[in-house]
Amino acid sequence: MTDMQTPITLGLVGLGTIARNQHLPALAATPGLHLVAVASRNARHESLPNFHDIDALLAGAPDVAAITLCTPPQGRFVQAAAAIRAGKHVMLEKPPGASVSEVEALIRLAEAAGVTLYASWHSRAAAAVEEARGFLATTKIRRVEITWKEDVCKWHPGQEWIWQPGGLGVFDPGINALSILTQILPEGVYPTAAVLNYPANKAAPIAAEVTMESASAYPVQAVFDWRQTGPQTWDIRAETDAGELLMQDGGARLSIGGEARIVAQDQEYERLYAQFEQLIRTGQSDVDLAPLKLVADAFLLGERREVEPFFDRSIAP
Ligand code: NAP
Repeated sequence: MTDMQTPITLGLVGLGTIARNQHLPALAATPGLHLVAVASRNARHESLPNFHDIDALLAGAPDVAAITLCTPPQGRFVQAAAAIRAGKHVMLEKPPGASVSEVEALIRLAEAAGVTLYASWHSRAAAAVEEARGFLATTKIRRVEITWKEDVCKWHPGQEWIWQPGGLGVFDPGINALSILTQILPEGVYPTAAVLNYPANKAAPIAAEVTMESASAYPVQAVFDWRQTGPQTWDIRAETDAGELLMQDGGARLSIGGEARIVAQDQEYERLYAQFEQLIRTGQSDVDLAPLKLVADAFLLGERREVEPFFDRSIAP
């Protein structure tokens, strides 16, 4: 537990796309957390002390109380473990790690060290998630469909780690849909089949279909595709006895029975940091592995199909 008044000092590791677009503005809007140092091998923060990596940050800014990791999932375990061993509270970007087992090991490390471990799922902080969960708890669900289709060249320009083992490929965005799914359904689901489409020149899938079933046997079908140019689709649709629930824009918009219920601006990361602060101040952790387990199961069950090679349009030839 920490004193409720004093801001908690924080260091950020991995000054890339999501750190600049979301973490820095959200931290600036969170008075209870005070960003005091950054570690990134190549990038530099304009006004804060910069370190090459987490070890240098931990040595050079020993008063930092918490660390937020905005690096790719591969390598996250070593960074998180170093922070925990140094007695720091840790917030992990999604997915929390490159494997289920390594995150379970982190949970044990954090418990032993008495620090907060927070596996953030930013899509769960979308505006419509709580209302969708409340609605689905009161009706009978008949089937659920996830359609998550986006342009990888637009959202991940030049990123190599997403195509490497542990980078998840199209499940990097797909796990956002699964994080919402596992939050809004009243019961667990499990994959029964999956088809994974691998570009001939890549080690991770560019598209996938995952067939799931709920504990009470309604079907859940997910289609993930990184090849969609033009309008982007991040929808979850549920047929129920009380009408159709439709979440769009990754959980920012909700309609039920064709009637708009929520149309919201994005405030996901401000909610994540409010939650991280609350967890630290109350001495708790929050690590839900359900979305990562569904992805791991899809890889376990997945039938691999080879598709045409992928060349990143955002990189000049
Ligand atoms: P990114 O643009 O590649 O940034 C990650 C940064 O981490 C890099 O700029 C790099 O900075 C540092 N890094 C440290 N070790 C690295 C390594 N081995 N390989 C590559 N970079 C390394 O990635 P991102 O899009 O910000 O994604 C980071 C995490 O946030 C991922 O888990 C992703 O799923 C999650 N996320 C991303 C988005 C999005 O829209 N992009 C949205 C939500 C969540 P240095 O080279 O300076 O060390």
